[in-house]
Amino acid sequence: LLITFEGPDGAGKTTVLSAIVKQLTQDYGSRLVVTREPGGNQISEAIRHIILDPKNTEMDVRTEALLYAAARRQHINETIAPALAANQVVLCDRFVDSSVAYQGAGREIGEDAVYEMNQFATDGLTPDLTLYFDVPSEVGLARTRTREKAVDRLDAEALSFHQRVRASYLRLAQANPERIRTIDATQPLATVIAEADQLVRRAITQ
Ligand code: C5P
Ligand code: MG
Repeated sequence: LLITFEGPDGAGKTTVLSAIVKQLTQDYGSRLVVTREPGGNQISEAIRHIILDPKNTEMDVRTEALLYAAARRQHINETIAPALAANQVVLCDRFVDSSVAYQGAGREIGEDAVYEMNQFATDGLTPDLTLYFDVPSEVGLARTRTREKAVDRLDAEALSFHQRVRASYLRLAQANPERIRTIDATQPLATVIAEADQLVRRAITQ
């Protein structure tokens, strides 16, 4: 079972993921594999380093999209696929939808092109369930402003960028209603956590 966590900046998905992992570990501890891109393997980490290195000011947007896809492929091979083969429950913080939303729509490469390229990278591996944490761009941005580490990125990425990212996520959710479940991330944290927990448990026990 592959379950992914998606959302624009400031949606709180990482906070929610760690909270539900704590709860789920009590019941499914040995079956859970919690991971996030780039996945902790040597090759993907090296690729991520290239993407995030501020010295790489010449990074072309398609180069960035290809690097994310390359890191994703390696993460699948080294972590996700072996876990799925062992019948484990993989909870992954960001996956292909992030690339469609951030590179496809945010960086305006085109959602279809980025999706197709990722089909090659993933060999068609699709999450069984995706929790999409939805938050209006203004709210999300305001939340990330309180986080020091995000400040540099924020200056570079305008509100319109985040609005394109969110609009893309909403399109993805509408186009894939079976796979993608939208959670209103403006609700109180406890409510968001409860909804996410319930959706994941339902997927595991179903
Ligand atoms: O998951 P997290 O919120 O920590 O992601 C950090 C940042 O990496 C995102 O806010 C986004 O700016 C960037 N990102 C991206 N394209 C992806 C995944 C992440 O631009 N495919
Ligand atoms: Mg973030």
